[in-house]
Amino acid sequence: MPSFLADLMLLRLGRWLRMMGQDAANADEGSADRELLKKAREEMRTLITRDRRLAGECRAAGVECILIKSSRIEEQLEEMAELGITLGLDPHRCTLCNGPLQKIECKERATWQCESCGKLYWKGSHWKKMEKMLGEIRDNIDKSNIDKSNIDKSNIDKSNIDKSNIDKSNIDKSNIDKSNIDDLHLNNKKQQPRWQQDRQQC
Ligand SMILES: [Zn+2]
Repeated sequence: MPSFLADLMLLRLGRWLRMMGQDAANADEGSADRELLKKAREEMRTLITRDRRLAGECRAAGVECILIKSSRIEEQLEEMAELGITLGLDPHRCTLCNGPLQKIECKERATWQCESCGKLYWKGSHWKKMEKMLGEIRDNIDKSNIDKSNIDKSNIDKSNIDKSNIDKSNIDKSNIDKSNIDDLHLNNKKQQPRWQQDRQQC
């Protein structure tokens, strides 16, 4: 996975990405577009933005960029999942400063500490709430994939019906052909076909 740089409109998404173990830096407060591009390029990060114009500038400057469409965090996470981000909590990054977390010895509970700012993390009620929300988003994605596959299946069924109609029409056509042959046989009995008459005349 690449490392990310969340622009100022997507700081919350950046925090969630860090909770899921991604290296996601925040844009510095008040930074102009060109400073964002510079930081993304220097630190080889993929810029995440909702600003279509900024995304265009990124592409023009050869900086990797993800244009997020939704303003809702659940849908933003879904968009990231579509790009291959695993939606599950994974304590490797400090949600405040993006510093690496170190697991520390603690008898009472699993605990991690940020190597940069010292903040402590453990699996409390907040953790459970976040896991629940990620689980719900994963379920939604699964559901929409099933719906999508049902639509695909229904198209296949429809195409089978169409095919069967074509087959049927071929049978009908073949019956018509057969009935033409019958006509021909009938004609044969009555009189010689015209081409035979012509040949005889030559
Ligand atoms: Zn930290």
